[in-house]
Amino acid sequence: MGFFNRLFQGRYGPDKFSLALLWAGVILSLVNGFFMGIPVVYRILRVLVLALYIFGIFRMFSRNFAARHRELAWYNGLVGQIKGLWRRVRYGSRNVVNLNAERKKYKYLICPQCRQKLRVPKGKGNLRVTCSKCGCKFNAKS
Ligand SMILES: [Zn+2]
Repeated sequence: MGFFNRLFQGRYGPDKFSLALLWAGVILSLVNGFFMGIPVVYRILRVLVLALYIFGIFRMFSRNFAARHRELAWYNGLVGQIKGLWRRVRYGSRNVVNLNAERKKYKYLICPQCRQKLRVPKGKGNLRVTCSKCGCKFNAKS
């Protein structure tokens, strides 16, 4: 049996959420270096970093699997929401369902001259594409 198996025997062990907590702690402690000149902020962030580490390690060695699973589900939901939000920011108000339907119907090309993103219908064989921005013509497979 490996070291990690022995270490976490009967314990919940590391998962994505615990690793994210530890990473957040590392990043926050690095960021906190900038706040050394502001003792109030520095102390608050230092406590927060410690809390992130303790919670991450506590979860790994916990024997309460049900509670840890609930936290992991919450974390996965949060990540999903952030990804959804990021997509809305990137693609404007168009919703994600439409976007996925669009992806199936169209192929996205980059104009070789001006790098403009172009959309052509899929499955039409070889096409002569005219860039809508710079007017350059090129061949592409759809
Ligand atoms: Zn172009």
